[in-house]
Amino acid sequence: METKFENLELKSELLTNLKELKYETMTPIQAQGLPFVLDGRDVIGRAKTGSGKTAAFALGILNSLDTGSQNIHSLVLCPTRELADQVATETRKLARMLKNVKVMTICGGTSEYHQEKSLSHGAHIIVGTPGRVLRLLKKKTLNLSLVNTFVLDEADRMLDMGFHDDIMHIATYLPKVRQTLLFSATYPEDIQKLGEKVQKDAEHVKVDTDHEENTISQMFFELQSHKDKNDAVLKILDKYRPDRFIIFCKTKIITDQVAAFLNKNGIYAGSIHGDLMQNERTVVMTMFANRSLSALVATDVAARGLDIQGLAAVINYDLPSDPEVYVHRVGRTGRAGETGLAFSLYVEQEHGKLDAIEDYSNKNIKIEDISAIEVDSQYDLIPEMKTMYISGGKKDKLRPGDILGALVNEAKLESADVGDINIMNVLSYVAIKEDKIEQAISKLRNGRIKNRRFRVGHA
Ligand code: ADP
Ligand code: MG
Repeated sequence: METKFENLELKSELLTNLKELKYETMTPIQAQGLPFVLDGRDVIGRAKTGSGKTAAFALGILNSLDTGSQNIHSLVLCPTRELADQVATETRKLARMLKNVKVMTICGGTSEYHQEKSLSHGAHIIVGTPGRVLRLLKKKTLNLSLVNTFVLDEADRMLDMGFHDDIMHIATYLPKVRQTLLFSATYPEDIQKLGEKVQKDAEHVKVDTDHEENTISQMFFELQSHKDKNDAVLKILDKYRPDRFIIFCKTKIITDQVAAFLNKNGIYAGSIHGDLMQNERTVVMTMFANRSLSALVATDVAARGLDIQGLAAVINYDLPSDPEVYVHRVGRTGRAGETGLAFSLYVEQEHGKLDAIEDYSNKNIKIEDISAIEVDSQYDLIPEMKTMYISGGKKDKLRPGDILGALVNEAKLESADVGDINIMNVLSYVAIKEDKIEQAISKLRNGRIKNRRFRVGHA
């Protein structure tokens, strides 16, 4: 398999930029998918999160794009605003050396009026969520009649979220002759059917995840009752002490209960599920990514597609009925040659699910005894970082350098004490070493950033 970007028929600006980005070799989904994508074929790409799917379609879009044209060339649909933002950011990064490429996001939760105004100035690539895209199509403020490439990203999750009808409706606004690319982590029957409806003669590209399973140590614990799960989690954490981990739960209510239980036991946890407001989600995700939280407690729907990998452990608080979902969850741990830990809790009646996983993975499952784990100490995992908010963001033209500058010059921190800096529209979040957060907050409260005063505090 060819793995060098140079051997693809890509515009020279794209190749030069890939070099600068240090994208040295193609990921497997790119190596297998890009030749078909660049050839204008329809493609169904199956690969898990973090496998580089965005570039697998975005490079195709950018390569066939004529920036001299005013028409919308491509539509990318994503399940959530967060994912749409991730795709738009990655696409802009890949497009850096092409002149005047306009990538626009069209998602719910932000002003429709501003989106329509921006659209009237022209855009080449629309990245959006189905609901809002369909609304603007119906209002005729969005015209997709000349679209060349239609992408369904995280298609399985879009179906989980009930977007099937919206997607089909959106497709009626697109030209019949077009390229349609569908990406999905899993491949249940409804995805196959969707592909048949919106694609023609699609090429299937699948990246095996099998090789990674071997580096994951998978343990199953049978419990008497669901009520024993919280204590089992504490025992597991006490014995294995993973520094960052995700806990998968069946329902929104359970995620909140588990997160509350962990926090009560001194473990910094945040939960995400479909009912959260976008800004609540952003805070939790930012704090987990910047190492201010040890645990992320999530439903499958909320966690799928998010770029969180390389975790020390995954805990299945509830066992999924679909073995493919199990494999997908477990794949969040044990990346890049490191061994990951996967713990699954279940009750006796759920043996069928265990058998399904065993069949699917073709391996014998080892069942461990929870009562054999002795707990002799309080588990108190303190995350390395804490998060500070600043009441200013992009609207105030704040840049990471301004914030870092203020933390070093005004708050007298070392730059090594400062972690991720996330600048949102009207707010910013900064990860600070746990033992330096108070100093940072008290000094910046009275100090200035870029010669202005902002409110600061614990996120
Ligand atoms: P997916 O959509 O499959 O979850 P993404 O497209 O978000 O994955 O890519 C995951 C990460 O890998 C991103 O940070 C991206 O910048 C990076 N990446 C993608 N392709 C390459 C490559 N060929 N070389 C190095 N990094 C890459
Ligand atoms: Mg993606």
